[in-house]
Amino acid sequence: MSASTPSLVPNSTALFARAQQLMPGGVNSPVRAFRSVGGAPFFVKAARGATLLTADDRVLIDFVCTWGPAIHGHNHPVIKKAIAAALESGTSFGTPNPYEVEMAELIVRFVPSIKKVRLCNSGTEATMSAIRLARGFTKRDKIIKFSGCYHGHSDSLLIKAGSGALTHGHPDSAGIPASFAQETIVLPYNDRAALDAAFAANPEKIACVIIEPYCGNVGFIMPDPGYLAYLREITAKHGTVLIFDEVMTGFRIAKGGVQERENITPDLTCLGKIIGGGLPVGAFGGRADIMDHLAPLGPVYQAGTLSGNPLAMAAGIAGLKLLEEQNPYVRLDALGQRLRDAVLAAARNKGLPVHVPQCGSMFSIFFTDTPVRDYATALKSDAKIFAKFFHLCLEKGVYLAPSAYEAGFLSTAHDGPAIDRACDVLTESLHSL
Ligand SMILES: *Cc1c(COP(=O)(O)O)cnc(C)c1O
Repeated sequence: MSASTPSLVPNSTALFARAQQLMPGGVNSPVRAFRSVGGAPFFVKAARGATLLTADDRVLIDFVCTWGPAIHGHNHPVIKKAIAAALESGTSFGTPNPYEVEMAELIVRFVPSIKKVRLCNSGTEATMSAIRLARGFTKRDKIIKFSGCYHGHSDSLLIKAGSGALTHGHPDSAGIPASFAQETIVLPYNDRAALDAAFAANPEKIACVIIEPYCGNVGFIMPDPGYLAYLREITAKHGTVLIFDEVMTGFRIAKGGVQERENITPDLTCLGKIIGGGLPVGAFGGRADIMDHLAPLGPVYQAGTLSGNPLAMAAGIAGLKLLEEQNPYVRLDALGQRLRDAVLAAARNKGLPVHVPQCGSMFSIFFTDTPVRDYATALKSDAKIFAKFFHLCLEKGVYLAPSAYEAGFLSTAHDGPAIDRACDVLTESLHSL
């Protein structure tokens, strides 16, 4: 049988062999490559609800949820219908379109701190542009980020980054001029004294602080009580723009993101993932006086040929409206707690130290006896045990993110048999470690 027979999807092994000849590492995003857990990635030919269908005809319960966007599960009929309806009218206009206005209205309604918004095509664009805007607004150059936080792959932000950068041992990417990196101050998360020291050492030089208010890219880590409020206070005192990167947590931790749950008002917020309903999208927004520094009103340039794309907008609008109708957050948290409790109980039986931070539909399984509160303590998690656990789960049909340093995600589609089965698989896998 020829691998190019169009009516048949070749299996994962054959696809990966071809992909490696054609694309670096055989993937278009490094976290997909399975490097940190060993083995070769599987290819997916379809996805529905809580499950993936692999090219090898295996059905897997999916806790990656396309790395965050799929809060309604895969291929939700309402989102699918919205995309199909938009498709009838065209795929891109290059002019303003009605979908953008509706999307902007929804974002402003959902996210308390956002008064004006700019739509773009990825989370990376959102954070890169928000930082440029903060620099243009404050006329300052330096930025603060936190080790282990991942904000996409633009130059200023790939310093002590989480996610794939960390998983593959390159938290500081090659190819970034030292002079760029000098403008980025990297601090430990959850450390007030480090913040005080950085502001004291750089008076009137810090344009912005960018943070994942709940970290999801070094595993899942929550802030100490009062930490985010302190961050708000110190940035306000120094005229520094506070940017919440809620690309992952927006519409997931709560309808209005972490800022709603914690009752903190950042100056700017970055969004992505869920607002595209599975299509490529990003957005950033916040205080109107800052946002009005963007071109065409102001001097900070930012643009995009496909920004506000009608198909992406239609998918995202349908997804956000579903969230508004269903208000699934209590239900998602109950699912998350079931998963956490199953892992904790199995680990206790086995006598294995684990920490399972969880909030709503986000969770992590850290194999360590140290509570995880920053990058350094996350790295104490035993990546070898995780790799073994990952493969045991995968063999039994449960797909966790292929790295010890990535968060897990639940969707509304995990309710019911999927969560029952997953709890059994996690329990059995922990038992066999
Ligand atoms: C995924 C992510 C990004 C980058 O978004 P892309 O759409 O992958 O460019 C930025 N920030 C956070 C917190 C993310 O989780």
